[in-house]
Amino acid sequence: MKKIKRNTKIDKKKRNLLKVTLSAFISGTLFSCDKKEILNKLKNPSNIAKSPIKVNILRPPGAIDERDFAKRCIRCGRCGEVCPYRSIKFFDIKEAGMFTFTPYINVLEKPCYLCMKCVEVCPSGALIPCEKEEVKMGIAVIDKVTCVTWNMHETGMMCKTCFNVCPFSGKALKLDLYMRPYIDENYCTGCGICAYSCISDTYPKNKGKKAIYIMPVRIYKKRSKDT
Ligand code: SF4
Ligand code: SF4
Ligand code: SF4
Repeated sequence: MKKIKRNTKIDKKKRNLLKVTLSAFISGTLFSCDKKEILNKLKNPSNIAKSPIKVNILRPPGAIDERDFAKRCIRCGRCGEVCPYRSIKFFDIKEAGMFTFTPYINVLEKPCYLCMKCVEVCPSGALIPCEKEEVKMGIAVIDKVTCVTWNMHETGMMCKTCFNVCPFSGKALKLDLYMRPYIDENYCTGCGICAYSCISDTYPKNKGKKAIYIMPVRIYKKRSKDT
């Protein structure tokens, strides 16, 4: 009898397409978008594989590893509904392929205030309950070139805004002898409150650039390993 050879690569892509379409259908959102555009996006494999999580664009607190997130999240939208600060948004089809309708937080638009309400209502296990001290949405990184306090000889400013707003100041965000901020990665939750509040972007020479950004944990670890 002739053996049928399966192309597992193509099968995987088909399964991914089916998953996204079903998720969108179940959540009732597929028909609120332009159908033709959605189908075109789903046909392009590069839209399916790439995670849209990047610097300052993070998953909500308690999120499982990004490699498994899209498989676990059922796109129910509850996390976004309960967030009292409206910090949680959902990716749309234009930017996210198979990650469409999964939640994210853009810390520069609205950070996470660690109330942990979203984690409590997630029905799928995509967000796992934990103490707020244990949250690891990302890790803050200070850009010493842009920070006005690290350049006080030039700016004449000794700003302590990030230190004042950090929920774990003194642990996650500390000041050195010269009052310059630095991060202890062991305690930083990646909530983004420091980046959101940073005033460095108002210093004319910085041209709107913040001096703190939040790196997703996986990217942070990869960079530390490479350097
Ligand atoms: S922990 Fe609270 S503030 Fe943060 S995203 Fe969840 S619901 Fe919003
Ligand atoms: S509550 Fe959980 S399953 Fe629902 S959209 Fe948010 S992360 Fe996904
Ligand atoms: S250093 Fe920034 S991101 Fe880290 S816990 Fe403090 S405010 Fe949140």
